Amino acid sequence: MLAADVVAAELVPPFANTAMDGFAVQFADTVGAPVTLEVIGTIAAGSTLDGEVGPGQAARIMTGAPMPPGADAVVMVERTSFDEAASTVEIEIAVDEGNHVRSAGEDVKPGDLLFGAGTRLAAGHLGVLASVGVHTVSVVRRPRVGVISTGDELVDDGRPLLPGEIRDSNRRTLLTLGAEAGWDAVDLGIAVDEPGAIREAFLAAAESCDAILSSGGVSMGAFDYVKVVLDEIGDMRWMQIAIKPAKPFAFGLVGATPVFGLPGNPVSSMVSFELLARPAIGFMAGMDDTGLVLLRAISEDTLDHPADGKVHFLRVEGRIDDTGRWHVRRAGGQGSHQLTAMARADALALVPDGVNITPGDEVQILPLR
Ligand code: AMP
Ligand code: MG
Repeated sequence: MLAADVVAAELVPPFANTAMDGFAVQFADTVGAPVTLEVIGTIAAGSTLDGEVGPGQAARIMTGAPMPPGADAVVMVERTSFDEAASTVEIEIAVDEGNHVRSAGEDVKPGDLLFGAGTRLAAGHLGVLASVGVHTVSVVRRPRVGVISTGDELVDDGRPLLPGEIRDSNRRTLLTLGAEAGWDAVDLGIAVDEPGAIREAFLAAAESCDAILSSGGVSMGAFDYVKVVLDEIGDMRWMQIAIKPAKPFAFGLVGATPVFGLPGNPVSSMVSFELLARPAIGFMAGMDDTGLVLLRAISEDTLDHPADGKVHFLRVEGRIDDTGRWHVRRAGGQGSHQLTAMARADALALVPDGVNITPGDEVQILPLR
């Protein structure tokens, strides 16, 4: 993420050059084509012509090669016939001044503001910076985001499960979401439901990270020591948000480090990440626009839920039809423990309380990247 504007100091292209393989000519010579011109040399990309193209002359030229002095247009090779032995070329068409010529600075000129602070540098941006010889820019450091799982039932070493145990999936998904968001996502392992272990894990995380993503222990369970400990060592807000999944959520500070207490259920932790953690940490990372982007789609399924006072975020698969419209259908089981539907989903469909969406109706969706 750029921390400061980047201004160009060079021209791109750095010199006038040809966009086509062909012959560099004086356009005035092509009036009344077909005409035959004398070929005075060949210019490959990376080389220059020793000489000047005068009236009645042409230079053979390859894409990207600099326009030779004297020439003001290029005739593409397909509209010429070259007689190598005679060093002549027949030009079949008349062309305008500047035909197939890319002038110097057509893309970038010195003084141009290339990219503003808050721009996330992607492939194209890096290519532009390389094209103007900029190798150093001022950036916001990737936030270091620690990911902790909590719960005695969690197993992460691949051993056979004992009764009551489950495998830790949240850490894998959250680490991957963080990495995909461009952050430095750090695996901080599992903190077992024991006050000492939880305290130690969170204090160490707060020391070493810019933000902490924990999952589990934020709901009403009796052994949720995460709550007790975070209240002791931090300044936390415990929330019940009127959404499903991802109702329980906690946010606060341990020292100066923000802690996002995501729910334990695998779908809930991902939804909570999308709605709350991603925008907030994105803001910390210097993004200039962290708003959620909602689109409209046509539902191909019934999307409804019993009245419960909550907005539901249903996991849906999407396709775009030939008119560019999104169509969505249920991606599978909608339980907050049914991660397969979340994995398959392209979007979350927002279904407000009391709204019954039937096939053909419009629905708002939050695309998942
Ligand atoms: P909790 O919020 O700790 O009460 O957890 C809610 C549900 O999420 C329980 O069924 C937990 O077993 C499950 N859960 C918690 N953490 C994880 C995790 N890291 N991976 C998979 N499931 C989890
Ligand atoms: Mg738990």
